[in-house]
Order: sequence, then structure tokens, then C-alpha cells
Amino acid sequence: MNPALAHVSLADLERELAAWGYKPSHAARVLRAFYATGGTPFEQTAAQTVELTVGQPSLLPAETSPPQHLRLPAGLAEKLRTLSAPSRTSHLAARQVAADGTIKLLLRLHDSRTVESVLMPDFRADRAAGCISSQVGCAMGCDFCATTKTGFERNLTAGEIVEQFLALRREALAVGRKLQTVVFMGMGEPMLNLDHVLAAIDRLADNRLGALGWRQITVSTVGIVPGIDALTATGLNVHLAVSLHAPDDATRAQLLPMGKRFPIADILAAADRFQASRGRPVTIQYCLLRGVNDSPDHARTLAAVLGARRLHVNLLRYNPTGLSLKGKTYEPSTDDTADAFAAILREHKLVAHFRRSRGPDIDAACGQLRRRSAQTA
Ligand code: SF4
Repeated sequence: MNPALAHVSLADLERELAAWGYKPSHAARVLRAFYATGGTPFEQTAAQTVELTVGQPSLLPAETSPPQHLRLPAGLAEKLRTLSAPSRTSHLAARQVAADGTIKLLLRLHDSRTVESVLMPDFRADRAAGCISSQVGCAMGCDFCATTKTGFERNLTAGEIVEQFLALRREALAVGRKLQTVVFMGMGEPMLNLDHVLAAIDRLADNRLGALGWRQITVSTVGIVPGIDALTATGLNVHLAVSLHAPDDATRAQLLPMGKRFPIADILAAADRFQASRGRPVTIQYCLLRGVNDSPDHARTLAAVLGARRLHVNLLRYNPTGLSLKGKTYEPSTDDTADAFAAILREHKLVAHFRRSRGPDIDAACGQLRRRSAQTA
């Protein structure tokens, strides 16, 4: 099918069909079939595709035609092929497969910019999680992050976000897994592109399109308070994750420039408002950096700041990304230090888990594959 379908909403396609003289009700059938198969694979040319596969060979299926069960009125398939904007569609630029089954994709957008998306196998053999980008580059300047080193380029459109989802769904289908959850934790700050992120979520969650389900979607933020409040106001039943990465404002400001604008107390107050409106715990993300934010004192301060809130703390193991913007080299905490940190949180009755480190044998950190691809181009 025409990959441009990723760029149209259900209402858009209904209008288009009506203008062509077809029943608008065919639009939902077309889009359901399109989303169910992960859409048509991105067009690839040998010149555009940089294979960086580490493990298995490419598992992308061959170009697919409309599913057999999708019976369309005469002439509609041809009309759909003429749908405008194939020029807006993305292409697969690079693909890495790690020994643990993690698959990282680099998609080249219509204007030659690139974004990363990641498929992570679940413990369950039939499931996988996807990590999606919301912007090209990032303006947040988190000092330990590879993405921000090249700065912010532009927001992604809803269609470009949907294309990432479809690419990951295809990868999951190819290895016999269901893309069960999606997190907006890739490149960019989702709250600064909220209109397009919400438009994309609408399509991913819609039973007539992506059929993912609201609860299977997590929006992550570095702590943009107005963005959290805007998400709260939508009433959408998605999950919220907040990247804290430090227990006090001074340490946080060293790591995240945004920390100077939004104090931890204000961020947690916004998270409280979100949680109160949904009744589901917010996730606090905390990346453990050796000698920076991982001491027992840091753990005790974090426990005190979070207090009796019913939150989940996700402790992340850092994937080194080389020299930072400030000229520092960050290292992951040792296992003993990380375990001691988690133990202190648990002593304070907080729910603390380690998020599994994914794809250590590929460019696993957010933004690494994109930078390497740019350097080798
Ligand atoms: S960690 Fe996220 S918010 Fe921070 S610079 Fe990287 S992509 Fe942006």
C-alpha cells in the first residue's frame, strides 16, 4: 500500500474518499489493514541504505501488496496509490541488530534528516516494546546524552512519528512478536512537540488504526511543567515518565540545563496532578552516573524528595557516549553502587527497579547511531 497513508488521519482519508466518490466508511478498513501489517516497507535503494547489522541479517519483509482479505471497490486501490505526499515518506537508512535481539533503526526523513527508533524484545517471547523519537535532535542539552550534541533541528510531524511505529511493528512481526508498548523516549522532548505527538498517539491508540491502547503508550519528559499540565488536561489515559536523574536542583542543573528553569518541587507537583487525574503511578527515571548522582547520600535525598508518593523509580544503567557538551566523560555506576542505591530507595518504601540495559554491542545510547551514520556518510 501507499506509504503516504502514514501521513493521513482517518478524517483526512474519509474526506479524500468522499471526494473521489467512494463511501467514507472504506477509510477505516484501509487504514486498519495498513496499520495491522506495519504499512508498506520504506522504499530502499542500495545507495541510501547503510547496513550496520551486527547480528542477524535484515529481517525486513519484502514489499507487501494490499492484504488479500482487504476487498476494495473497483479503482480504489489505484486511487490510493496516487495519494499525495509519497515525497513526505521516510526511508530506512541504517539498521543494527544486537545479540540480545534489540533492533535499532535509523530512518531518513524526506528532507534527509535522520531519527532513531528502537525495538526491544520483552521477556515474553511473543512481545516487544518500541522506543520512538519525537524530534530531530534535541534542544534540552542533557550533558550525558548523545542526541543533543548536534542540537535541535526540527519537530517531527505526526506522520513521521507514525512511520516509526509502523517500522517497529514490521520488525516485531518479522520476528514473531507483537509490538505491545510504545515509549516516547527516543530523540527529542515530546512535550515540546506535543501537538504532533498527541495527533500520532491518537492514531496509534485508535482501535480502527494502530489499536495499541492508551495504556500501552508512555510519554517521557525531562520535566517541562507546562507540557505535563497540558498532557494532564487532555485526559488521555497514557502513562507519564519523568526523567529526574538527580535528587536536588544543584546536581540536576549540572546535568540538565532545563533543571534551572523547572525546580524538582514544581516538576513533582505537576506529576502529582497528572497522577491524581489518572490514578496510575508516574514513573521517575534516574540514570545512575558514577560519582555524579549515585552516592548513598544522593539516594537518601531522592527518597526524601519523593516522600510517600506512590511512584515507580526506574534506575537506568548508562551507556557511555564519549565526551559530553561540557567536556566531561560520564561512566556508568558500578553494580555494587547501583545495588546499594536501589536498596536505600526500597528501605524508604519506594518501588525501585533497574531497567535492563539494551543492545550493549550496538550503538545503544539515544543518538549514537545517528551520529555514527553522519560521521561515516
Ligand atoms: S536525554 Fe532526552 S531530553 Fe535530554 S538531550 Fe537527550 S533526547 Fe533530549
